[in-house]
Amino acid sequence: MSQATGTLYIVSAPSGAGKTSLVKALIEQIDSLRVSVSHTTRAMRPGEVDGVNYHFTRRERFLEQVGQGDFLEHAEVFGNLYGTSQSTVEQTLAEGHDLILEIDWQGAQQVRRALPQARSIFILPPSSSALQDRLSNRGQDSDDVIAGRMAQAVEEMSHYVEYDFIVINDDFHTALDDLKAILRSGRLTLAHQQDLHRHLLTGLLSD
Ligand code: 5GP
Repeated sequence: MSQATGTLYIVSAPSGAGKTSLVKALIEQIDSLRVSVSHTTRAMRPGEVDGVNYHFTRRERFLEQVGQGDFLEHAEVFGNLYGTSQSTVEQTLAEGHDLILEIDWQGAQQVRRALPQARSIFILPPSSSALQDRLSNRGQDSDDVIAGRMAQAVEEMSHYVEYDFIVINDDFHTALDDLKAILRSGRLTLAHQQDLHRHLLTGLLSD
């Protein structure tokens, strides 16, 4: 059995749709699945760890890296810069791991252009009121920030039609099962199976 190249997954969602918790559960449950740690100029939130949640960086350094072509994609979200390391993506996929990029719609558009084989998933909340509740319950941001995020959420959600898969996060475990099904199907595609089972497929057709 040879090692197949990993599959790249883009996961986008409005803030408050539960994307981070779902991706965390996926990583814990699926072997060989990794999540990319983005670079950002945003300030660290309480409980966040540099190098784990994000690589926190200064704006000048970020722009320097943009100039060097270090990012597969980058975008400004809520006034802060976010970017995905090109070399980390290449290395992780080459090692045979599937990789999730938790990025916004702008980054998703750039990744699709660079790597059309990437599969994209959009996570939606079950209703506007559920989204509003989830944004208010976080307790980490002021009312102004929450109102701004609600408007941003609608803007983010308006891009759902650009994605290959839609998952609605009403019940957490159902949404998690849906995501697992998408990942499992990615390992069963013709290209992936040809890569993984080259000897078997050759052997089956020889007499
Ligand atoms: P937060 O700062 O709340 O963790 O994330 C804010 C938004 O930035 C989310 O929509 C998240 O998906 C997006 N984001 C996080 N990392 C990246 C990245 O590397 N690239 C892009 N384009 N968006 C990102």
